[in-house]
Amino acid sequence: MQPLRGTKDILPDEIIFWQHIYNIAYEILTSSNYHEIRTPLLENTDLFHRSIGNYTDIVNKEMYSFADQGNRNITLRPEGTASIARAFISNKLYLTPKINRLWYLGAMFRYERPQKGRQRQFHQLGIECIGSTSPIADVEVIRLAIKILEELKCIEYTLEINSIGDMEERKIYELELINYLNNYKNDLDIESQTRLNTNPLRILDSKNSKIQEILLEAPKLKNFLQSKSMNHFNEICSHLNYLNISYKINENLVRGLDYYNYTAFEITTQRLGTQNTICGGGRYDQLIQQLGGPKTPSVGWAIGIERLMIIIQNQVKIQKNDNKIYIAIQNNKIQNRIWNVIKMLEEIKIKFELDLSNNSLYKQLKRANHLCVKVCFIIGEEEIKNDYITIKWLKTRTQQQVKLYHLKGYLNYLKNYI
Ligand code: ATP
Ligand code: MG
Repeated sequence: MQPLRGTKDILPDEIIFWQHIYNIAYEILTSSNYHEIRTPLLENTDLFHRSIGNYTDIVNKEMYSFADQGNRNITLRPEGTASIARAFISNKLYLTPKINRLWYLGAMFRYERPQKGRQRQFHQLGIECIGSTSPIADVEVIRLAIKILEELKCIEYTLEINSIGDMEERKIYELELINYLNNYKNDLDIESQTRLNTNPLRILDSKNSKIQEILLEAPKLKNFLQSKSMNHFNEICSHLNYLNISYKINENLVRGLDYYNYTAFEITTQRLGTQNTICGGGRYDQLIQQLGGPKTPSVGWAIGIERLMIIIQNQVKIQKNDNKIYIAIQNNKIQNRIWNVIKMLEEIKIKFELDLSNNSLYKQLKRANHLCVKVCFIIGEEEIKNDYITIKWLKTRTQQQVKLYHLKGYLNYLKNYI
């Protein structure tokens, strides 16, 4: 049996990195007053149509959608923001504090061609700052993305940022762009020809060099932005300058989701090859209202954990603390006696592994040696008869007998040596 194409088991050796990422995110985000939220993996398909947009890659070709037993249209969430906006509305989170700062880490699903850094089930760490129009909110979230990446030793990155204006500004620009590109219709690739009718802005970030060449002379979105959009963007840039966060303004950066306005940004890294975007985000002032909630300006981002993992696994050394006591036991009948020892170990917080093999003591000790544990407890017939346990130090091959009533005191001492 194999896992489904584009999905992966995460085995214990790798889990330590996941825990590391979670812990760092938790620490940094908690100190900035972000609170974790977990929303269902399943949502009504309609949610993503209404938020991400019908003409986006995600909705168009990447969603895992199906009808459930009750014939409801269900989708495995392809991203986090739409679900959080939905949760914000359904739980009336707008009734409590003015600003909701939320973060999540969880599985997302997109039907894509699997390759390095691209899976069908993948994970995102994301944050949403809900309820502020201030450009400082944009800076807060961008700064947190960078702080998390740096803390995780993911340091060779580039922050690209752009303003995509508001809906009206984009509408006017879109017409101009279509007008211009219509002159080159036959030179466009099939994908861009389709996008000309459905999502023309996405043509701007086409990787096709011929299209990039055509775009050189195209009208620029920047020139269609009114002062409100421009001021918002300029203020973000001046804060980033102050913070010494270097960034590149990429006028062609539009992002693949419909709900963004004003700020769009991406963080890329040279370490990943083709799948080089590690973080994507932006401002979404209309989304919550569009989904039936009150007008609530917001901004957020998502980091792809699998791509982050490729970088940090080579970069971060995590000390695996696997020091434990091996418990060798001799006879099934005496097993009820071992629980007292186990309870003591738990109380004193010493890790242990109980041998379950029914093998001879000799073989059990051999396995303890193989595991490189320092100390082995032996609980055999003699030990039971005389109310002690044998403590064997495997490296020096010395052993001692400790009476059960002394064991707790002994364990407190032992704790410092394993
Ligand atoms: P890409 O252009 O690589 O497809 P995207 O624009 O679709 O990315 P977003 O929707 O912005 O990605 O998601 C944010 C981040 O989630 C990405 O930058 C990436 O790190 C990660 N991500 C997106 N899709 C996948 C996937 N299929 N497998 C692994 N990670 C992914
Ligand atoms: Mg994608």
